Amino acid sequence: MKIVVLSTNPRLYSTRRLVEAGQERGHEVEVINHRRCYMNIATMRPAVHYKGHSLEDVDAVIPRIGASVTFYGTAVVRQFEMMGVYCVNESVAISRSRDKLRALQLLSRKGIGMPVTAFGASPDDTDDLLSLVGNAPVVIKLLEGTQGVGVVLAETRQAAESVIEAFRGLNANFLVQEFIKEAGGSDIRCLVIGEKVVAAMKRQGKEGEFRSNLHRGGNAQLVRITPEERSTAVRAARIMGLNIAGVDLLRSNHGPVVMEVNSSPGLEGIENATGKDVAGLLIEFIEKNARRGRTRTRGK
Ligand code: ADP
Ligand code: GLU
Repeated sequence: MKIVVLSTNPRLYSTRRLVEAGQERGHEVEVINHRRCYMNIATMRPAVHYKGHSLEDVDAVIPRIGASVTFYGTAVVRQFEMMGVYCVNESVAISRSRDKLRALQLLSRKGIGMPVTAFGASPDDTDDLLSLVGNAPVVIKLLEGTQGVGVVLAETRQAAESVIEAFRGLNANFLVQEFIKEAGGSDIRCLVIGEKVVAAMKRQGKEGEFRSNLHRGGNAQLVRITPEERSTAVRAARIMGLNIAGVDLLRSNHGPVVMEVNSSPGLEGIENATGKDVAGLLIEFIEKNARRGRTRTRGK
């Protein structure tokens, strides 16, 4: 098969591993920088151009779209879909999961557990907003944040009000969320491919840090997850319409709660923590599922 990995950086661990795993299985794998793709939006003849030529005969696309290029990246994925090329994660599913608020709304509609979460825009409603999530301590999150940046724990009501005021002053959209204290600064990353959790790790924040992101100095270990955690992760990925997803859960007193679903989960942390060949499993999934024209958005 001819497989395209959409990635802005061929040297990244995840990109390298996908190329390696594809080649090991006898496929032709090309890394294409989606920011360098340009498109001819001509009636009935969709095409993607790259460095002077049109990309032809692609059997499958693996989108690795970073948060800062979601708009452009999903437009490129959509163009491949219009050409009938199988994209392992579809454009609508990527946009849906990238928008944290939209994702939580869809998950809540399907009964997935999540921290009590509130969203509002007017300063007049701050009091009510805080009451909705049960008052301090609360977690306040910038909607545009990634890798734990813009995620703040406000221990008192006064602190919460100041943070909200600051975010509003910057015209930033944010969520206010119940603080899951019992998670103890750790979360569970479930790597879902198709209908299976193929690897799971527990990430623990460094001493005194409630955020478990590896970018914030956390560490990761192999973890055994419960059947409930497994089914929650698989359902969350399915609701988003993602074939490959990193589902982040917290272990709360009221069962697993989903924080977010990532459409381009990093492979380095999870492969190292679990010893699993996640890249290889994704290529296998593509071998079984990639068909021309099979590009309908699966999520609802
Ligand atoms: P990002 O997308 O930037 O990683 P997250 O929403 O995943 O942001 O939050 C970063 C980390 O902060 C999580 O991995 C988790 O450890 C911690 N965290 C986030 N929300 C909560 C919460 N409501 N209760 C407890 N810990 C949380
Ligand atoms: N399920 C609808 C779709 O396929 C929209 C739901 C959403 O993602 O907001 O686009």
